[in-house]
Amino acid sequence: MSESTDTSVTVIGAGIVGICCACYLQRSGYQVTLIDREEPGMQTSFGNAGGISPGSVAPIGMPGMWQQIPGWLVDDNGPLFIKARHFPKALPWLMRFISQSRRSRVLEISRALTALNGPTFAAYQPLLEEADITGLFHKTGQLFVYHTRQNMEKDTFTRELRSASGASVEYLDSKSIQEIEPALAPIFEAGYLMPDNGHCKDPLGLAQALAQMFVDKGGRLLKTEVQDFVFQTEGITGLLTASGQLPATKVVLAAGIWSRELCLKLGLRVPLESHRGYHATLEEPGVSVQRMCFPVDYKFAVTPMAMGLRIAGTVELAGLEEPPNYNRARKLVDVSRKLFPGLCTEKYTQWMGHRPCLPDSLPVIGASPRHPGVYFAFGHGHQGLVGASQTGKVIDELIRGSELSMALQPFRIDRF
Ligand SMILES: Cc1cc2nc3c(=O)[nH]c(=O)nc-3n(C[C@H](O)[C@H](O)[C@H](O)COP(=O)(O)OP(=O)(O)OC[C@H]3O[C@@H](n4cnc5c(N)ncnc54)[C@H](O)[C@@H]3O)c2cc1C
Repeated sequence: MSESTDTSVTVIGAGIVGICCACYLQRSGYQVTLIDREEPGMQTSFGNAGGISPGSVAPIGMPGMWQQIPGWLVDDNGPLFIKARHFPKALPWLMRFISQSRRSRVLEISRALTALNGPTFAAYQPLLEEADITGLFHKTGQLFVYHTRQNMEKDTFTRELRSASGASVEYLDSKSIQEIEPALAPIFEAGYLMPDNGHCKDPLGLAQALAQMFVDKGGRLLKTEVQDFVFQTEGITGLLTASGQLPATKVVLAAGIWSRELCLKLGLRVPLESHRGYHATLEEPGVSVQRMCFPVDYKFAVTPMAMGLRIAGTVELAGLEEPPNYNRARKLVDVSRKLFPGLCTEKYTQWMGHRPCLPDSLPVIGASPRHPGVYFAFGHGHQGLVGASQTGKVIDELIRGSELSMALQPFRIDRF
């Protein structure tokens, strides 16, 4: 621990990112208070697709993608939807997103994602072992399949980025796709396996088990809403919460999409937009899927989970207040019927969550340049489960004042 005698840290947000920060800080000997207005893991970390992929190093915005956006918007089954009345609010974000998707910038972003996501399994490992939940992770690879070879060729740059990060990519023809994943319809001409990727079979169970371990080891879990920050000349001294004022001299803001509002209280405007995503989890799918699969032409994921087969995807820009449109979850199910013959879709649960996205697909991680004692760990977008473990590790290193295991410059809050 650093020379500072103050050994307490408060983490705002008990999603997977805040929980990993709290666990890592606790391992270093800090007295940690973890605050959430809900039970741990009940927001975006509840229903994600469970993908854990060190090879997730391509940003969402890729060169030339903007040309596809108009087509997606008029396609009712398309992977992107923008609610008309949200469009004026989303427009500045979209313009930044497009400007970040040029090739030279994508190469820089990919290097930063490699540093953050590459060590995902290694950074989770000590936490999983301590909580005795290593069985939640399956390192069975991830399978990417395409209807045609030409479609796969359109994604060449993505695969190049993955290979450049050191990830293995094994190419497959239609016969070998059938051999390794017989439940898939024989309609995919080409694909590839990333054998070093995997998935978590119960993302909520992961968040809950780590939060429980944190409490069992003496961590303080507080259920209340953080409303504001309290400062004196030396820096932060407390938090204003729905239950009153709380002393705090070191604070980690890890409140997912809701970090945007809390940043405004700090006078910081962060371009954080919700990519609302949906899932349908088929309780009795009637087919056996061995590993996480991406039918890439449809831009969603299919993951074998402890509670059934989860189909997750779509990006909907509609803000935080609009009610979920579960037609989107239903469409995921409808399309999946064609991809997995024999899929039983009678019983399923559905869900919508807010991916906290910055225009360059990189989160904000680091110390506030203007508020001594305030640290940021939010905005992990489509890859928060992947990035949470290394984020927790590096936030702990930063607060301890120890050597950092990755450079934080690409993740600074004032980069836009
Ligand atoms: C459909 C879908 C599929 C996905 N698939 C994957 C995947 O396969 N792999 C992957 O890596 N990622 C995936 N993601 C993304 C991933 O789920 C998110 O990046 C991740 O859950 C974000 O975690 P978080 O801790 O930052 O946010 P959250 O889980 O949203 O946690 C933030 C917490 O802060 C609390 N909070 C907010 N404001 C306050 C306040 N004022 N006071 C107190 N508490 C507050 C909230 O209650 C919440 O619990 C997916 C997301 C979706 C929607």
